[in-house]
Amino acid sequence: MLDRLGAAPGSAGVIDIDPALLELRLDEPMARHTTLRLGGPADIWARPADIPTLAALLSRCAATQIPVHFVGSGTNLLVRDGGLRGVVINLGRINQVSRPDPDGQPTRVEVEAGASTGRLLSRATAWELGGVEFLGGVPGSVGGGLIMNAGTYLGEFTNVVTQVRSLDLRGLEIVRDHAACGFRYRDSDLPKHEIVVWAELDLRPRPRAEIDAEVAALRKRRDEREPKKVPNNGSTFKNPTGDHAGRLIEVAGLKGTRRGGAIVSPKHANWLVVDRGIEPACTAADMLQLIDFVRAEVERVHGVRLETEVKVIGEAP
Ligand SMILES: Cc1cc2nc3c(=O)[nH]c(=O)nc-3n(C[C@H](O)[C@H](O)[C@H](O)COP(=O)(O)OP(=O)(O)OC[C@H]3O[C@@H](n4cnc5c(N)ncnc54)[C@H](O)[C@@H]3O)c2cc1C
Repeated sequence: MLDRLGAAPGSAGVIDIDPALLELRLDEPMARHTTLRLGGPADIWARPADIPTLAALLSRCAATQIPVHFVGSGTNLLVRDGGLRGVVINLGRINQVSRPDPDGQPTRVEVEAGASTGRLLSRATAWELGGVEFLGGVPGSVGGGLIMNAGTYLGEFTNVVTQVRSLDLRGLEIVRDHAACGFRYRDSDLPKHEIVVWAELDLRPRPRAEIDAEVAALRKRRDEREPKKVPNNGSTFKNPTGDHAGRLIEVAGLKGTRRGGAIVSPKHANWLVVDRGIEPACTAADMLQLIDFVRAEVERVHGVRLETEVKVIGEAP
């Protein structure tokens, strides 16, 4: 694989990239890069330091027909136990948040896709700009958040995004305005075969004390309702129209249901989590079995077919 990429020591056509600009790891366990702590190895885990390096990597993969996958902070991913073939690209090093024109356009913020949602929220708060309070307690990268249109009852990305830039598989840039992103409930039209690299947001002036108070209230509410200290993905299923997946699962009597080391959280029924300390240790296959069982039971009891919010990727072993 490294040979095809041209990155193996001594190989011909070496990917002309300074190793300092492109971190590559072989057979990297995806369990290290997902909050569920599950998932088999990625053939190659790649972290470019800047956009030109990312573009060069993408075009090299396209030329050599190596599949690519995009992973943010892995907070919404269930990677199968066989892992991922090809190159998994993570933008964690491309993570700047800036306010390019504080005098002329004080509410305009630019953010690179590898920035964490926490970093975006804290920079906006420091600039006394409101609009992203909804991110309080929502983990992940901005890239993943845009793909998912992540949010809470306080709002979601669609409320603040004005423009998104992505690279296609040849490394060429595509610019979309808000309408072209097709944001909807925990989803968007941003294509799977493009990597989001950057977004422009339009926020609004708001005193820091107000932002802090609203975020603190959101975090407190979450702390009371959500399981802590267990590997998880947040909500496993999307809420069906007019109802809550958690309510449907709880009424079906499924809290505490287990498959191997995967369990429906006794605290929040829509959180299918890893039960630590169970032997043998939880696998992605356990979690997939639990998801299938819960979906089937909810359909049997309520006649409602739940859709996963969590993205399932990778190969079975
Ligand atoms: C404790 C906890 C609480 C949560 N609470 C919430 C909540 O309140 N609201 C909510 O909406 N979500 C919530 N989530 C889910 C998750 O935080 C969001 O979906 C988040 O936006 C995912 O971002 P990520 O960077 O982790 O994406 P990942 O999980 O890494 O990826 C998610 C999807 O985005 C794609 N992707 C990631 N980055 C890029 C990119 N740069 N370009 C193209 N595609 C990309 C991936 O291929 C994948 O399809 C929670 C998760 C946890 C663990």
